Amino acid sequence: MVAIPSRAQSIQDAKSKGAKICALFPVHFPRELIECFNILPVEVWGPPGQEYNLASKHVQPYICPIIKNVVEFYLSGGMDVVDCAVFPHTCDSIQGLATLFTDMLHWDKPTFVFFYPRTSTSELKQQFLADEIGKVINFLERVSGQPFEQGALESKIKAFEENIHLRKQLIDHKKATGFESVEYWKLIRAGEYMFVEEHNKLLAAYLDYLKKNADKRDQKRAVFITGYVPEPMEVFEIIEKRGFYIVEDDYAALGRRLVRSFKYNADISPIENLVRKCLSFNPCPMFSQNVNDRLKYLTELFQYSDAKGVIIHTVKFCEPELFDVPFIEKHFKAMGVPVLFIDTNLEKKLLPRDRNRLEAFLESV
Ligand code: SF4
Repeated sequence: MVAIPSRAQSIQDAKSKGAKICALFPVHFPRELIECFNILPVEVWGPPGQEYNLASKHVQPYICPIIKNVVEFYLSGGMDVVDCAVFPHTCDSIQGLATLFTDMLHWDKPTFVFFYPRTSTSELKQQFLADEIGKVINFLERVSGQPFEQGALESKIKAFEENIHLRKQLIDHKKATGFESVEYWKLIRAGEYMFVEEHNKLLAAYLDYLKKNADKRDQKRAVFITGYVPEPMEVFEIIEKRGFYIVEDDYAALGRRLVRSFKYNADISPIENLVRKCLSFNPCPMFSQNVNDRLKYLTELFQYSDAKGVIIHTVKFCEPELFDVPFIEKHFKAMGVPVLFIDTNLEKKLLPRDRNRLEAFLESV
């Protein structure tokens, strides 16, 4: 087994080594760009289990729990340790949050809102992204007090390639052994708040541990899961306890960020490589892509997984994810695949209703 540091430990460790801390909001942003300035990106997915004593005065009750939890977390001092913040404009709520922080909630630290291209023209997309990356670099130079170095970005991009390579090996191991563990998911999620080189060391050590200890295949059945963020993580506990495992997943926080089609090209600059990587992101409703591309992608993951059913797990009031839910349900049901849809509220534990529905679904497939 490996010891997984907590967010607080990772932040403290980075600070003690002279790094700055950047609050990074969901969902898609190239972490390598922040890390190459020796700034630790710590993703803020709305820590689970918050009570809305402060946030409810500032945000409407029908906004998604990510926003409510983040506002509560910020107002209760959870983000005091942070030096700057990046808001990728992947949905209107995050965009609104950026405005709320700076205009209404007296957030006075450097802030950058990163826009993704919304055009379908490839050349325009590339140009737009290169311009946005250039603006982020200026921003991070100001925050860090360090000049941008191409070599630092190159080595970070390659370290993230290694990260994906290790995660793919873990997925292959799962497929071969039927292995499932909540620890595995915690380990992958540690990448939300660790420098990539440190995370790679943990992944490599865990892979080594699994290979040494896997002597027979577990008789488990696979399910496939898609959604936003795996909170509460009790979902994985129930899946494991009921004798199931997940080979591939499409959580926005997890598997959807596994960019498989990107390979570093030494003939072009690190920034051009980063642009190409951003354009290779997997289908995601946050980019308003054609839902058919997403259905094709999900079907491939589902078939690779040999899964017996599909679980769609979103958070409440998440417009981008919820737009796709009826299409995903219809698509898999037409294939004769059982589908369960649950939407949760970033609770610490599943509500009894959701737990019962998940358990009943797993019994039936
Ligand atoms: S609306 Fe959805 S994508 Fe946007 S912040 Fe909320 S949960 Fe995330």
